Amino acid sequence: MDHGASRSGEAPSAAAGHGRDGPAVLIIEDDEEARAALVRELQGRGYRVDQARDGREALDRWSARRPDVVLLDLGLPDVDGLDVVRRIRREAATPIVILSGRYEEREKVEALDRGADDYVTKPFGVDELNARLRVALRRAAGPAADRGGRLVNGTLELDPARHVVAVAGRPLDLTPREFEILRVLLTHAGRLVTKGRLLRAVWGEAYQAEDSYVYVHVSQLRRKLAAADPDGSLRDLLVTEPGVGYRVRSGNP
Ligand code: CA
Repeated sequence: MDHGASRSGEAPSAAAGHGRDGPAVLIIEDDEEARAALVRELQGRGYRVDQARDGREALDRWSARRPDVVLLDLGLPDVDGLDVVRRIRREAATPIVILSGRYEEREKVEALDRGADDYVTKPFGVDELNARLRVALRRAAGPAADRGGRLVNGTLELDPARHVVAVAGRPLDLTPREFEILRVLLTHAGRLVTKGRLLRAVWGEAYQAEDSYVYVHVSQLRRKLAAADPDGSLRDLLVTEPGVGYRVRSGNP
């Protein structure tokens, strides 16, 4: 039998992988060229892709399809990208990753404060974007805790029920605020947590402008972790996103 030439003209859909059952992403971007590139790249990575060019179409597509994750350009021609975040959050916890321009710092932080999960700054590489999408999807799949309810990240272990933290099995003495900060960050491992969100979670709504509280307590927490970690395995645990917040490295490989 001849297996040759007759097949060569077929579209490489099978070779492109699990496009039919990969996660569904809704790409909201008004720039035609940028949108087409995102569609192509993400389809190539196995995502099922839906797209919208403005805010109205975005909300229509979102209601119609309920994608697993939303990729949102903040600068849209008709409505404010922040409105899209608010509308989606009113109805669902679907992860939202922001595509932000270099001069949209304030809008980006506001979107994160309103419940967007993460962001990538243009121009970005598709590997970076894919990593952010995967973390956002994993977060949506369930809490970071193990079966015993403990939060584990490398040699660090936090048990919310017993209120203890240990590094390599040795207990670590934290103040209640430090404990709470660490608990919130570990719960969102891999994700960005804004300073505003930390303040609301640890101190309460009335304190959300007190950035210096977070700064002081996170510094102290870092010092204690470093002192308890002589082999340095937790050195890259807690990453600062300048001007935005903090991110604990992803707990699961
Ligand atoms: Ca735009």
